[in-house]
Amino acid sequence: MARLEVRLLGDPVLRTEAEPVEAIDSNLRRLAADMFETMYAEEGVGLAAPQVGILKRLIVIDPQTEDVRPLALVNPSVVERDEDTERAEEGCLSVPGLKELVDRSVRVVVQATDLDGKPLRIEAEGLLGRILQHEVDHLNGVLFLDRVSPLKRKMLLRKWEKVRPAQARS
Ligand code: ZN
Repeated sequence: MARLEVRLLGDPVLRTEAEPVEAIDSNLRRLAADMFETMYAEEGVGLAAPQVGILKRLIVIDPQTEDVRPLALVNPSVVERDEDTERAEEGCLSVPGLKELVDRSVRVVVQATDLDGKPLRIEAEGLLGRILQHEVDHLNGVLFLDRVSPLKRKMLLRKWEKVRPAQARS
């Protein structure tokens, strides 16, 4: 396994839509293992392949709660979402140092396959539902910054200029 470099805000790969996974093979399983290692090293609870520069529809998740095991999801999509939303604080490994309150659907249903190609249907609320929505957004080039008001976003981007790591400076 290897720890991968997490791409930061400003990298165009984060704004590009990822391609569906066509074949679940040893390369994909190795990528998932490396993404788990990277996520744990960075103390995150979710990571999407575009965040490590790979434009494939693969996410890994571990909410670190007792009742949810770590999940690697291939070609995940949100197939149902509640209209009711709730607001909670989010951060992102690609935008370290920034946190903001984000509205998300209270409950979502996500369909995907696992790393054996077995279909999965996950009904999720709370933290798991929020992480799933955040990570599926990444596959579509969407960041949590896009889900806050324009004013908040402007403030966050101003803060980012001050806190962003050196490798994200142009
Ligand atoms: Zn993120």
